[in-house]
Amino acid sequence: MIKREISRRDFLKLCLVATATMGLPVSFVEKVAAAVKSKNRPPVIWLHFQECTGCSEALLRATNPDLATLILDLISLDYHETLMAAAGNQAEEALKKAMEENKGRYICVVEGSIPTRDNGIYCKIAGKKAIDILQEVAHQAAAIIAIGNCASFGGVQSAPPNPTGAKGVMDLIKDKPIVNIPGCPPNPYNFLATVLHVLTFKKIPALDKYKRPKFAYGRTIHEHCERRPHFDAGRFAEQFGDEGHRQGWCLYKLGCKGPVTFANCCTNRFNDIDVWPIGTGAPCAGCTEKGVAFFMALREKVDVHEVTPPSTYAPISTKKGKVTTGGIAAVSAAAGAAVGAAAVAAAKLPDKGEGDGKEGR
Ligand code: SF4
Repeated sequence: MIKREISRRDFLKLCLVATATMGLPVSFVEKVAAAVKSKNRPPVIWLHFQECTGCSEALLRATNPDLATLILDLISLDYHETLMAAAGNQAEEALKKAMEENKGRYICVVEGSIPTRDNGIYCKIAGKKAIDILQEVAHQAAAIIAIGNCASFGGVQSAPPNPTGAKGVMDLIKDKPIVNIPGCPPNPYNFLATVLHVLTFKKIPALDKYKRPKFAYGRTIHEHCERRPHFDAGRFAEQFGDEGHRQGWCLYKLGCKGPVTFANCCTNRFNDIDVWPIGTGAPCAGCTEKGVAFFMALREKVDVHEVTPPSTYAPISTKKGKVTTGGIAAVSAAAGAAVGAAAVAAAKLPDKGEGDGKEGR
């Protein structure tokens, strides 16, 4: 991979995005930039198990060389099976050397799930089982970052009937700090921001119950989705390609998992060209969640717990004499909410069973 110099302007821009991703005010940009420029690069050993390498691709893709350069400058990537030139015995030696030289200091990044069925024989590298490699490398690591849904929760390989007994890292390693950055693939900025957080504040970020950084996974997609006003107004695409779909209406009835999926895709987007699945007309698959993507049918509807717009939303219509969802939300809030919210939900959402996973297949 060819690295290139980043201009100061682009460098500060990347630091700004990473700072915003962490939920920090703009005044922290200089502090984050100083951490990036420090020579204190954490050693990283990157392991690949059952996966497609999409997480590495997303992180290091050539369409954003600045981001790839920044990440490679930020960490000392001592072992990465996809990127390193070494192969065979040389690669094995490189892993041994990286572990010995950085004992107790290195971050172990894991990409891919780990098979456990039949004593873990379904994934072997250089004759060694993945589970043995993980335990050996994790044993001397300072912390582990599980990148992608596979390493975090088992991913697509763990979908029923889970023939290899695929598991995520946190189900197998219990005595090390673990940060999960799920997604399929995850947004590279979430990895960058996690490493920057460790460098800037000398500790791992606050995590949720699935060990995900709260700064990136603290809110549902549904909360900030650009199609949310259509959800609140009861305007839904019913089929792919119908009038509602072409008009950009809400994708809930097409199986969107946004209401139960905690992630920042809706605000951070991908590829620096403002692209993300829902923006292109594809319902959210729930790839940052445990037991949603790969476990629910694509057209299966999720339960919605947040059916009224937040009171901070502008009303959809203010015409005199019309009942608006914004108005309902305000009345609901003033009245104690629950009954009004349930009424709105009942009025505009289909029965849960309606069309579950059956239409359009
Ligand atoms: Fe957006 Fe999906 Fe929520 Fe509709 S259901 S507003 S498309 S996240």
